[in-house]
Amino acid sequence: MSFESGTASTVLGYPRIGPRRELKRAEETFWAGRADASELREVAARLRSDTWTGLRDAGLGQVPGNTFSYYDHVLDTALAVGAVPQRFAGITDPLERLFAMARGRDGAPACEMTKWFDTNYHYLVPELGPDTRLAPADRKVVEEFREALRADVVTRPVLVGPVTFLLLSKAVDGAPEGFRPLDLLGPLVEVYRDLLAELADAGADWVQLDEPAFAADRTDDEIAALRKAYDRLASAPRRPKILVASYFGELGRALPVLASTGVEGLALDLVAGRADLDGIGRVEGLDRKVLLAGVVDGRNVWRTDLDAALADVRRLGEVAGSVLVSTSCSLLHVPYDLSVETTLPADVVDMLAFARQKVDEVVLLGRALREGRDAVAAGFDAAAATRDRVAAATRRDERVRARLAELGPDHYRRSAGDVRATVQREALGLPEVPTTTIGSFPQTGAIRTDRAAHRAGEISAEEYTARMRREIERVVRLQEEIGLDVLVHGEPERNDMVQYFAENLDGFATTELGWVQSYGSRCVRPPILHSDVSRPRPITVEWARFAQSLSDKPVKGMLTGPVTILAWSFVRDDQPLGGTARQVGLALRDEVVDLEAAGIRIIQVDEPALRELLPLHERDRAAYLDWAVDSFRMSTGGVTDGTQVHTHLCYSEFGEVVGAIDGLDADVTTVEAARSRMEVLSDLGPGVPRGLGPGVYDVHSPEVPGEDELVTQLRAALGHIGPERLWANPDCGLKTRGEPETVAALTHLVAAARRVRAGAGTPTTG
Ligand code: GLN
Ligand code: ZN
Repeated sequence: MSFESGTASTVLGYPRIGPRRELKRAEETFWAGRADASELREVAARLRSDTWTGLRDAGLGQVPGNTFSYYDHVLDTALAVGAVPQRFAGITDPLERLFAMARGRDGAPACEMTKWFDTNYHYLVPELGPDTRLAPADRKVVEEFREALRADVVTRPVLVGPVTFLLLSKAVDGAPEGFRPLDLLGPLVEVYRDLLAELADAGADWVQLDEPAFAADRTDDEIAALRKAYDRLASAPRRPKILVASYFGELGRALPVLASTGVEGLALDLVAGRADLDGIGRVEGLDRKVLLAGVVDGRNVWRTDLDAALADVRRLGEVAGSVLVSTSCSLLHVPYDLSVETTLPADVVDMLAFARQKVDEVVLLGRALREGRDAVAAGFDAAAATRDRVAAATRRDERVRARLAELGPDHYRRSAGDVRATVQREALGLPEVPTTTIGSFPQTGAIRTDRAAHRAGEISAEEYTARMRREIERVVRLQEEIGLDVLVHGEPERNDMVQYFAENLDGFATTELGWVQSYGSRCVRPPILHSDVSRPRPITVEWARFAQSLSDKPVKGMLTGPVTILAWSFVRDDQPLGGTARQVGLALRDEVVDLEAAGIRIIQVDEPALRELLPLHERDRAAYLDWAVDSFRMSTGGVTDGTQVHTHLCYSEFGEVVGAIDGLDADVTTVEAARSRMEVLSDLGPGVPRGLGPGVYDVHSPEVPGEDELVTQLRAALGHIGPERLWANPDCGLKTRGEPETVAALTHLVAAARRVRAGAGTPTTG
């Protein structure tokens, strides 16, 4: 079946972890040594064939291939082109090597992992150097094409395109100054030509090469590389037709470049990149291309407005050789199937479409395109009726809107930082270089069991509260024994820092099986923010009050900030994100004010995702940072000068957002700094002129930092900022650590801070 003859529809990719996370279970069993490779391969083969036949039977005109991955599709591409770092070269078993690159093994640390554009998916960063010998290596893409053929499905194999592959790669350690991965474009394109020839021999009609890197800002050199790569690929003597897919934004000036090459197809993201439609009539060469109109959002969970989508498809059709309907990007970023959810309210279900439902939308649109809307009027009308129902149902909360309209800039702003610092010094009586933690304490199996039992209704609310209080008391006592200055309650009642708040705020829904792959076998279940947000009742106040009642030292109140709540949820798209963020900020403001009233003197609002939501295009960044800062200040601006506001940020590349971090105006900012402590401080020290806590040890490793090492870190930090501004704390929350190592590390931290205090400002050796 091909585009030309079948229904005019396809999708750019599909989830692969399994509708019930079958792949996750099989992998983790295999890694634990409780199953052999053949069992894992069997699960994988079943998932692949279920996907192929499922998509075909749903009526897609063409089914994407090679969308399965044991871990990550960028890693798969690296293996396909022979980009295996030296430290893994000795491993001969392919599956073993793949998992070693992904997860590390003795003496060979894993490849670095980083975010896939602005999604919550993480890929493994390929490492390239001048000595990397690129050549066709792993044949997964060809083998899976043949495997699908045996299941009677002619797939369109998907690979990361060569230019995006290089732009996502990094230079190997020790590569000569000036080497850039893009220098390997010539040889890499030859490898792709070989792979394309093999796919053609195997019977592939089309291949899809993904170039999402061109939805971000690119230099002239990079655009030239794109042209060169596709001119060369298009001129290959034996190859399938080439579809170049871009997504997560508009192609902009890369569009005419691709249109001028000899590739047969282009896939456009008409959701995030709808701007490409403006002026598309002036792009030359499109009348010779098959264009895929990506009108069904692959990044979000809302139903598509089919009539509006059909209009966009037709608009593209006016300039295209031929046009087909598709998703805006791979469906990897949404859950499998809405129909298995049993607890979502009916009016919320009406709003939603998960991967399986989005396939139906694409198929319906494809039929409308080929056969006319009348032929599928029933489907369109039913969808339109549902949309009307959704629109009529109350998504608006006039009370929230009225309150927001009333809040002016004065409600966001606190007194000057130094004024607050003076009041707080008096009120809190903390020593120089105070010690604290980021919030969570080790989550023992018992805590998780208690939470699950509570959820399942097996223990009463009273019993649950009693158990959590026992844990909070234990953690507070433990911190007092260790001698920390600012305590936390340990967050035992939270399954996840976003989901916990989503479950307690109006305007959100949560799913049972809405898992989305984050990296490897790890999945998250993002909450769904569908309506106006408000806080029906206090959330954390009783836990915080209880914890504070156990100690004379300040216990921090602990909240997740508006940006992070948005970043890790599926967020309504019927109004700008900034407006939604302000609503979340207002709900949190109510909580912050109540915490203060309950006697909590320090309140931390975590924003680990501040950097993560930064838009791909430079031109969109200022507006984003504006609303991000605004919503944070909305949440924290309601307290008196004596209440100390903390924030915590993760991921170390803060350079681009220093101004925004300053704008948050927190009294104390703790940051993850494991990788490049000094760089962080040289940016943040002058840029954020208030309290700073650069994490002095990495919480992602079970290793216990020595006291001397911590003294060295703190003294180094004092080279950048004074002892009245410096805090001593770990890098991030401790929930994934074990108890003994946590106690040892924090004991060293307290001892180190005491030593540094004794000799503050006078760095000595030793
Ligand atoms: N307060 C949270 C914790 O300690 C912060 C986690 C994070 O930064 N990701 O777990
Ligand atoms: Zn963190």
